[in-house]
Amino acid sequence: AVPLVVAISTAVSARNGLLIRNRTAFENSRMITTIIFDKTGTLTKGSHEVAEVVTFNNAITETEMLRLAAGVEQHSEHYISQGILRKAKEQNITVPASENFHYLPGKGLEGTVGGKDVKVVGPNYIQEFKIAVPENKAEEGVETAVYVLVDQQPVGYIKLRDQIRDESAEAIAVLKKNGIKNLLLTGDNERVAQNVSDKLQVDGFMANVLPHQKQEKVKELQAQNEFVAMTGDGVNDAPALAQADVGIAVGSGTDVAAETADIILVNSNPQDIASLILFGKATYRKMI
Ligand code: ADP
Ligand code: MG
Repeated sequence: AVPLVVAISTAVSARNGLLIRNRTAFENSRMITTIIFDKTGTLTKGSHEVAEVVTFNNAITETEMLRLAAGVEQHSEHYISQGILRKAKEQNITVPASENFHYLPGKGLEGTVGGKDVKVVGPNYIQEFKIAVPENKAEEGVETAVYVLVDQQPVGYIKLRDQIRDESAEAIAVLKKNGIKNLLLTGDNERVAQNVSDKLQVDGFMANVLPHQKQEKVKELQAQNEFVAMTGDGVNDAPALAQADVGIAVGSGTDVAAETADIILVNSNPQDIASLILFGKATYRKMI
């Protein structure tokens, strides 16, 4: 027979949009003291619409740049890739074949299109490899910008606009009211991270974070005796989800995140995390 508490918690978790993969982690969720949120796709929708396509010094046409970028992005399921591919489709661009595709984790991707090396990368890559870029407005405003490099030469940038999930602010507010610290971690740039953090009033944020650094941050907090939950949706969040005391994956995210997590937010609603913790505390009180 199924113990009553288990039966109740299973029913309540289903009603609250939670899929429990690890019961111990679920039961321990009442002990969470800090929650780390990935930004993109977790607190935001990952709806990434191309807002601007800008080329440098007529090095290339905007259509050609979009075509080359789409050529490499077709191999990735990242929100940035999907946004660029939607834009290409909208403009009736035939996406070219590409080869030698690989990820530059936390920085972008690379491939060969028509014999040319094409990279689509974040500002962090440009900085790291000290690539000289003409004066431009890519790194202004609160959109996510990616540069396009053809045979190592920067030819322009594409800006993409994401949207904050409607439920995110309320979720953060409830967590704060219950004394649970919250932190936003993102591979995206400082301005985008600051903007989302301000709008959601999170306790703190870190930008330009590489996948292994998300995991290190979880470890660091655990060493400070925090009981840490990590919420994420991407392949890049998997190490941190595994490291966390409670790993929570967003339902709309990647399979890798879901397979690594203890709990899945079926409706991709961050408010369900607040319900999870409060429910855990209430159930535990009833048991003792
Ligand atoms: P997050 O932590 O917000 O989920 P990621 O680690 O997935 O972010 O990505 C970090 C950064 O790497 C992006 O903001 C972008 O600059 C770059 N990047 C990641 N994936 C892609 C892609 N498919 N195309 C271009 N740039 C990418
Ligand atoms: Mg993400």
